[in-house]
Amino acid sequence: MKIYQFYVGGAWHDPASGTWIDTENPATAEVWARIPDCNAEDVKRAVQAARECFYDGPWARMNAADRGRLLRRIGDIVVANAERLGDVETRDNGKLAKNITPPLKSWQSDSFYYYAGMADKFEGALIPVDAPDILNYTRHEPFGVCALITAWNSPLSVLIWKLAPALAAGNTVVVKPSEHASASTLELMGVLEEADLPPGLINVVTGYGPTTGEPLVDHPDVRMVSFTGGVPGGSMVASTAARKVKPVVMELGGKSQQIVLEDADLDLAVNGVASGIFPATGQSCISGSRALVHRSLVEPFTEGLAEVSSNARIGDPNDPATRIGPIANKPHYEKVLRDIAAAEQSGLRLVLDGRGKGPEQGYYIGPTIFADVTNDTKLAREEVFGPVIAILPFDDEDEAVRIANDSIFGLAAGIWTSDTARAIRMAERIEAGTVYINNYFNAATQSPVGGYKQSGYGRENGFAGMGAFLQTKSVWLATSPAQPEPFAD
Ligand code: NAD
Repeated sequence: MKIYQFYVGGAWHDPASGTWIDTENPATAEVWARIPDCNAEDVKRAVQAARECFYDGPWARMNAADRGRLLRRIGDIVVANAERLGDVETRDNGKLAKNITPPLKSWQSDSFYYYAGMADKFEGALIPVDAPDILNYTRHEPFGVCALITAWNSPLSVLIWKLAPALAAGNTVVVKPSEHASASTLELMGVLEEADLPPGLINVVTGYGPTTGEPLVDHPDVRMVSFTGGVPGGSMVASTAARKVKPVVMELGGKSQQIVLEDADLDLAVNGVASGIFPATGQSCISGSRALVHRSLVEPFTEGLAEVSSNARIGDPNDPATRIGPIANKPHYEKVLRDIAAAEQSGLRLVLDGRGKGPEQGYYIGPTIFADVTNDTKLAREEVFGPVIAILPFDDEDEAVRIANDSIFGLAAGIWTSDTARAIRMAERIEAGTVYINNYFNAATQSPVGGYKQSGYGRENGFAGMGAFLQTKSVWLATSPAQPEPFAD
């Protein structure tokens, strides 16, 4: 049994509460580690360390180019330790090993190199203001201590998307991973010890939302919050932050649609839709959990989707042949089962039932497909965050757009068609932060990602991702002694 400590000020600590939280391997349902149950006292200690690092010591004096060098060092260490980090994440949340370690070695670690390059290129401007004898320029400055709060589904990649720009911008951070999957974040701090980071630059506190996350967001010295999670947690965090007028970036959930038009290549669409919902066992924020299918294609599409999905191998997340691993934790497994039962009891047509599939031990649910779904049902409106897809028919393009936009969410959408001009036209009309045309699930450090409506606000990745961690100062310099005019004769 691994007993973790939390990481503050460059050192490991036991929680003030003296209590730890069990963490299970969802592939076996066995408790394999304990993580600290941090309370407000631990949070205070973490914020104090981050604050001291921001105002004093080497980080406070470090120039942007040197911050870039430090980020490159972090990237190199993450790449070198990708197997170790990936192993822990797979054991902790059941994500397929092949979907953690190779990305950690490549495009996910690229965030550190990308923002390392951006650290000394985010330039201010000289503004030609309408004022005589004045030089006006802008500076982009860090906020100070930022709170980075992450979800359990992809703890490391969600964290890296925040951590790299936050540090490149010159902030210090306190990270609060999910109580359901904190181990890989703590392990990351273990491997980063060789990076010789200034103490207090990155701090990690673990524990529950209300008792660890809430005091962190509320702490007066936390100046900005970047949050990834569900809508209920996100709106609580946003309200707490609003009380002290703190800026927040919100990366929340979705009920994203994949639209299959009548001119789509059916095989491509079937495969694309399956690959847009079932990887990560449906536990990705952008999972395409509503398939809007032109009525003329509904029957062949449904048959095709059921066929490819029922062949997907369910089981050990470490086995490279596995397509569907476990649901990441027991409470969520029970929630997904409840959602499937409720959809079935409401009379929806269950085409493929994933319950009882996969190994007996552990939290497995296979691909589950409901057909003839209408958009007024709970299944079509609420996020299941599991391997469950609802197929909704539509008759024309306008109806498809109307159904797509009739949602509280606006995270992502896919369009499958052979008519590119039509797809571009539809992409403009769909209210979502990301639209895919004849592909799905792509993401890259260079391209901004985020939600419309209740899927969130603010952006991660790209220039916008860096901008979120900076505030702008306007400096006015008098270039003539005549400024200002004498106040009195
Ligand atoms: P969650 O909202 O329950 O928890 C997320 C984090 O917030 C956890 O660390 C939790 O402890 C913390 N938290 C909860 N309440 C809090 C409070 N009052 N104050 C401070 N912190 C609090 O979400 P989850 O169940 O861990 O993750 C699943 C959700 O995350 C899904 O809705 C999914 O769509 C979403 N998600 C979104 C993205 C994205 O980029 N848009 C990415 C991954 C996951």
